[in-house]
Amino acid sequence: MNCVVSVGNAKEYDVEGLKQNISKRINDIGGFESIISRSDRVLLKPNLLTSAPPTRAVVTHPSFVEAVASLIIDHGAKVSIGDSPPLGNLNRVLSKSGYDDFMRRLNVEPCPFTKKRTLECVEGRVFRRLDLAEEVFDFDAVINLPKLKTHTQMGLTLAVKNLFGTVLGTDKASWHLRAGKNIDDFATVLVQIFEQVNPTVSIIDGILGMEGNGPNNGTPRFIGIVAAGKDAVALDAVLASLVNFPANMLRTSVIGQELGLGMADLSKITILGDELKGFPITDFRQAKSVTMAWNLSYWNPVRRFLENHMITRPMIDGAVCKKCGVCMTHCPPSAISETNGALSIDRKKCISCFCCQELCENDAIQVLEPLLGRFFSRVSR
Ligand code: SF4
Ligand code: SF4
Repeated sequence: MNCVVSVGNAKEYDVEGLKQNISKRINDIGGFESIISRSDRVLLKPNLLTSAPPTRAVVTHPSFVEAVASLIIDHGAKVSIGDSPPLGNLNRVLSKSGYDDFMRRLNVEPCPFTKKRTLECVEGRVFRRLDLAEEVFDFDAVINLPKLKTHTQMGLTLAVKNLFGTVLGTDKASWHLRAGKNIDDFATVLVQIFEQVNPTVSIIDGILGMEGNGPNNGTPRFIGIVAAGKDAVALDAVLASLVNFPANMLRTSVIGQELGLGMADLSKITILGDELKGFPITDFRQAKSVTMAWNLSYWNPVRRFLENHMITRPMIDGAVCKKCGVCMTHCPPSAISETNGALSIDRKKCISCFCCQELCENDAIQVLEPLLGRFFSRVSR
């Protein structure tokens, strides 16, 4: 296993500067020859959560993706960009997020995920089968291009989490339902998806990241780094440490290591690249709901008490809500309903997956952190 992560400083999104920076990162981890071959068909998988201008730091910055696409084309390979955005179709998200211009210039094709393939998982895994986008497996190589952002359910969204986009539309909700409030079950799904897609490398856009209650409604925050690794578990662990996120709370890395898919122990990861000053960022604002990392497998009344008093939950801000109904349509357990023109959330049904908060374009879902949860999340860091 290649436990080398390369991290470089980056001040801005100029494509030529990024090409040089990303080339150095790739050289540190074995060079382009170890990732793709000439004449390969390569799929780039950025974070394309929803249509959003690059200044909002929701999607992987188009200049970052252009730099990677350009390097791969220079290497003699052909490039496509694919994802399955939960809201809107891929072409619209690409266009509204500023990708059109460079895709036209570089002759990069969009690859919407529309067909499903059922994959048998490795013997002994928790989930035996996964339905993922068939198109992903039509390529010679997948290159994973996540954005460094906070995530209300998982704490952070980095390399492993980014491949949840290979699950088609409504199937995403069914995975949330199967995992319920058990954060480790959901982290396991993410790790198993990552294992199936098996990207050759992950390169993280951590220049303008997001803090607070991401991944859609957080606050853009300049972080100033570009990082790459073939071991995504290690890459995520390194990035989490740079933004001061507790290692044991990044469940995808903890479980990824347990399943033998990578190394989350920082003392065993070789970190190459630029000298990093000002890290870890001690005032980086984490998402409120990291209390979800507490797994509650206790006796039922105790569990219910802890869920009510510790787990972060959503609340609809009636003054901001535009009643578009998107949250209602996408809530996995149908916990949101409308009565007399006002939307409300059934607390008993809610699994705190925060899909509603992620998909609300109007930032009308607040994140409530109960007092006890706030206390325990502070002392556990
Ligand atoms: S998605 Fe947001 S704006 Fe739309 S109904 Fe739900 S809370 Fe209101
Ligand atoms: S109300 Fe929001 S957080 Fe609760 S289950 Fe529905 S989508 Fe998930």
